[in-house]
Amino acid sequence: MTSDLTSSLWHRTCQENPVSSVLTGEVTVDLVVIGGGYTGCSAALKAAEIGASVCLVEAEVFGHGGSGRNVGLVNAGLWLPPEDINDRLGTEAGNSLSQALGQAPDLVYGLIERHGIACEPVRNGTLHCAHAPSGLPDLQRRANQLQAIGAPVQLLDAAQAQARVGSAAVHGALFDPRAGTIQPLGFARGLARAALTAGAQLYDQSPATAIQRSNGSWHVITPKGSIRAKHLVIATNGYARAMTGYEAPAIVPVHYFQGATAPLTPAQQALILPGLEGCWDSALVMSSWRMDQQGRLVIGAMGALDHFASGIHQNWLTRKLAAVFPSLAGTKLESQWFGRIAMTREYLPKIEKLDGGYVSFGYSGRGIGPGTLFGQQIAEALITGDESLLPLPASTGHSLSFAGLRGAYYETGATLTHLVKDRI
Ligand SMILES: Cc1cc2nc3c(=O)[nH]c(=O)nc-3n(C[C@H](O)[C@H](O)[C@H](O)COP(=O)(O)OP(=O)(O)OC[C@H]3O[C@@H](n4cnc5c(N)ncnc54)[C@H](O)[C@@H]3O)c2cc1C
Repeated sequence: MTSDLTSSLWHRTCQENPVSSVLTGEVTVDLVVIGGGYTGCSAALKAAEIGASVCLVEAEVFGHGGSGRNVGLVNAGLWLPPEDINDRLGTEAGNSLSQALGQAPDLVYGLIERHGIACEPVRNGTLHCAHAPSGLPDLQRRANQLQAIGAPVQLLDAAQAQARVGSAAVHGALFDPRAGTIQPLGFARGLARAALTAGAQLYDQSPATAIQRSNGSWHVITPKGSIRAKHLVIATNGYARAMTGYEAPAIVPVHYFQGATAPLTPAQQALILPGLEGCWDSALVMSSWRMDQQGRLVIGAMGALDHFASGIHQNWLTRKLAAVFPSLAGTKLESQWFGRIAMTREYLPKIEKLDGGYVSFGYSGRGIGPGTLFGQQIAEALITGDESLLPLPASTGHSLSFAGLRGAYYETGATLTHLVKDRI
């Protein structure tokens, strides 16, 4: 299986189809954005809303990258809990980021409502589930840290968690009522539509092939056109294509794949995730499960589906489905797809400062809220010249040694774990 977006459930069920065309000729704008996922589309929308002229170019289709392939969990923070963020960023910057991201679901669901985005929004919270009793101390630690900054999270015991999930395979859970689920590709394409409606120019099938900076302005070249702009946002994250004149910051590529059942019967839906929370577990090689609007169970785990060991991952996912939901043993997973998560060594997103621009990347598997927020704030910071609007301090250089090797380490680890037949 290739990394083609069309194999995904989200592609099959997407209700948002923004008008798109290829960039031809030369355009001059205030802001040029490269990349049409959450970060780029959100930046374009914000820039247009505050009166700037903006042009976004996407190499493939809007939502081609992580934004069209993810699990759709709209979290109220990062993978790291607040104290761990503070250890890496310092207390002031860490607290400010955690507070901002705590409100990111409000931003996402607010945009969905304001722009009428068709993306199956459900805001019933998420459950970080203990896969075994050994997972409970980490959930307790996360609960303590989140409650200390005022987050309304709640630790559920085994019986409560089992009733919410509809599974005896969970041993407790951390419930976050601020969070929820969406149809991820629908949200990305809805943001693109909203940006177009607000007056932004968006072009797909228009890869930036080269960028240049001269005389205080940017020149971005595509195969059939070019853009001149004062400001630049690079929002290509884990799907960055080569551009002459620019070297994308290194990330650790971690792959994650998913499959979806056919719509479950009403009787099954009454037992499995009856409250429609989105879930993931505390296992070292984690997995996730959630429902879509038609009552399909979408289950996922770490791994890529484009190499010789894909079958190992796929077989393991079928076993995981049966272990968590025994009544679904043997149920076929109809769509299967995977995507590339852009991790950083610190598990924190980064904003890299350029002369007259920013690169935003490395959401480390938590990009729906953060990407949407970062895109907005970066656009506003550039256009107003007020860098204090940035959600975290910008860095001037990023390096990550042996990034490819680290990615291979994650993939090998997932493959070996999935190879062990009784390890679920
Ligand atoms: C499988 C998976 C599951 C995930 N689950 C979750 C989740 O449940 N919750 C959550 O919050 N986050 C999740 N994430 C992370 C989240 O999807 C990403 O952090 C987020 O989508 C990043 O958005 P983005 O706009 O920065 O980048 P992307 O969505 O990756 O967009 C980058 C875009 O740039 C384009 N591009 C690249 N190079 C060029 C170029 N030269 N010219 C023009 N365009 C270019 C690409 O084609 C792509 O469309 C998951 C990620 C994956 C892969």
